[in-house]
Amino acid sequence: MCQLQDPDFTSNPSPVFSKVYEGLDIITNKVSAQEQRMCQHHMISFVDPLVTNYTVVDFRNKATALIEDIFARDKIPIVVGGTNYYIEALLWKVLVSTKPQEMDTEKVTDRKVELEKEDGHALHKRLSQVDPEMAAKLHPHDKRKVARSLQVFEETGISHSEFLHRQHSEEGGGPLGGPLKFPNLCILWLHADQTVLDERLDKRVDDMLAAGLLDELRDFHRRYNQKKVAENRQDYQHGIFQSIGFKEFHEYLVTEGKCTPETSNQLLKKGIESLKQVTKRYARKQNRWVKNRFLNRPGPSVPPVYGLEVSDVSKWEESVLEPALEIVQSFIQGHKPLAAPVKMPCNEMENKRSYHMCDLCDRIIIGDREWAAHIKSKSHLHQLKKRRRLDSDAVTAIENQSISPDCDKELKEKGSPEQNEKELKSSV
Ligand SMILES: [Zn+2]
Repeated sequence: MCQLQDPDFTSNPSPVFSKVYEGLDIITNKVSAQEQRMCQHHMISFVDPLVTNYTVVDFRNKATALIEDIFARDKIPIVVGGTNYYIEALLWKVLVSTKPQEMDTEKVTDRKVELEKEDGHALHKRLSQVDPEMAAKLHPHDKRKVARSLQVFEETGISHSEFLHRQHSEEGGGPLGGPLKFPNLCILWLHADQTVLDERLDKRVDDMLAAGLLDELRDFHRRYNQKKVAENRQDYQHGIFQSIGFKEFHEYLVTEGKCTPETSNQLLKKGIESLKQVTKRYARKQNRWVKNRFLNRPGPSVPPVYGLEVSDVSKWEESVLEPALEIVQSFIQGHKPLAAPVKMPCNEMENKRSYHMCDLCDRIIIGDREWAAHIKSKSHLHQLKKRRRLDSDAVTAIENQSISPDCDKELKEKGSPEQNEKELKSSV
């Protein structure tokens, strides 16, 4: 998920957190025992894989406490990885914690799940009564978010939008949902040429296979998943089971020994291929996240991103290690690093949550792009035509009215149009 380290740059290093679930070390690419000895790692393998309700809030609370402890020991925490949402929770005060004192995750989750079972429009209507501002930003079909906002109100008595306003009004509040949680943040973005990266990711999968990936998956499947599959209640959407790599081998694992070796082999190949595909897709998603979340929105509440080119590992020292150390040292000493942060040409940002009401179609459309698509859509154009027809009928009706005796009289009193024109010309 995400790792935290606190290396002390002067003496013994000690880092923070990551792959929180126990097991599946190979497929989740956990740091090796040797790497763990080089520098203290936190938050690795401490959650039971059968716990499926471990949330980002749990992660944030534990990680934040650790970060504060590392700072208190005069060391520097390093967060390594990982899942975007988890890192965002550490950078910004983005998450609304409804019950920070007694975080009963199970209950919190249950309430939202309960709400999500209700009709989307009914939920949206309720939200528009308690939090019209948030309701205006959410489509009734976006049940998950509507339920979440309702949950916030139910459990705190404060509307979700009010919550967010309070966060934004704190010093340094920015468009990303509040000020940065920690000052003096710095992001090192290791990026590589796409072709090189794709090759490297394919190779990583091959290396995992060579390191015993299949045995690990078989063992994990037998211990945690076999019974679930037999009862048809396997769940690849939550907890460690949603990790990249496990569900890709589902077919292979459940049929192994129950089908011909040829079929088994084919399913294995299919699993490997799809693992390579999802790995590459995930890497692209992470890069898009860096661009969208940081580079496209520079500002006081967005930490600078320093790019490190890792396409050619033979140049690791001069193109990665040395510049990285220089940047971090500069931050510690409080002066500007030699390297400049990555900048993107700032294009006009579209608003993904803007609210549009189409009076013609009587529909709510959320997002600029969706709105642009809507006004070009067949259904909308159809409504537009209908409206124009009605309008032109109305115009005809008004024109017909204007030849009524009363209007005639008015025209005569004011003078005919030709007369007016003559007077105008003579006065010029
Ligand atoms: Zn419309």
